[in-house]
Amino acid sequence: MLVFKQAAGLQAWLDTERRDGKTVGFAPTMGALHQGHLSLIEIAKTECDLTVASIFVNPTQFNDPADLEKYPRMPEQDIALLIGAGCHALFMPSVDEVYPPGLDLRLQLDFGPLDQVMEGKFRPGHFGGMAMVVNRLLDIVQPHRLYMGQKDFQQLTIVGDMLRQLGSAIQLVRCPTTREADGLAMSSRNLRLSPAMRAAAPAIYQSMQAAKAALPGEPASAVQARGMETLRAAGLDPEYFDIVDGHSLLPVEHYADSNFIVVCAAAWAGDVRLIDNLVIKENPAAT
Ligand code: AMP
Repeated sequence: MLVFKQAAGLQAWLDTERRDGKTVGFAPTMGALHQGHLSLIEIAKTECDLTVASIFVNPTQFNDPADLEKYPRMPEQDIALLIGAGCHALFMPSVDEVYPPGLDLRLQLDFGPLDQVMEGKFRPGHFGGMAMVVNRLLDIVQPHRLYMGQKDFQQLTIVGDMLRQLGSAIQLVRCPTTREADGLAMSSRNLRLSPAMRAAAPAIYQSMQAAKAALPGEPASAVQARGMETLRAAGLDPEYFDIVDGHSLLPVEHYADSNFIVVCAAAWAGDVRLIDNLVIKENPAAT
């Protein structure tokens, strides 16, 4: 696997490969890699000639400086995992390489309600920083396909909207959420869970499964209230448990109201903030 710290080196290599007709798949990450990240590489490898990953802990998407400080970093282990997964190249830039001093990379895009609800409400500024770094990384890598996880459903929706607004030809690929055996969605943040909180955390997946089973027969407001209660009873501190339309991210009250319904949850497990989601209904013909 080739490892690039500078954009120019990566671009020179990719230019040569693209001239040979190779297709490029790209999976941006913040490192502390787990099987969820590696699943993106595995899917990209089946669809593209070359797979590029990036590891960059993006300071502009952390609204809480303590969260940025505590974010796990383990580059040697990450490199070994990517080699094992057969990734072709890794881009591991410094902050100055991504944000050259003096260059204003902020995007003037309006995401409407997409970046105001759920994570947008609880992490102000997060999606602006996320969109800026994804756009910058896409400018550098110029992939044919972009691989991102369903795990961060709101992020995926906003990136899809960003590509549409920019008129980009890059194809966004939604990759399924990889879970531990007990249902907990894999996350770099799970490393920081205490044993007691690790034992409590699968309640998030269980509460979403219960919501999926209940929604056809009950209004969303009742299902949501019960979801919040289940999370509290498990010892977690939930921020939201929202049932939304998978396109607009606006609340859905009844099962019949939308062809694409997703339950999205965020909860604190001690001092670790976890998010997850589950598709309740998706009608492929209508999405
Ligand atoms: P992160 O390093 O948390 O920024 O995540 C990088 C990419 O990996 C994003 O597209 C995430 O949605 C995706 N990802 C993170 N966790 C998982 C998971 N458990 N399953 C699938 N994809 C994931």
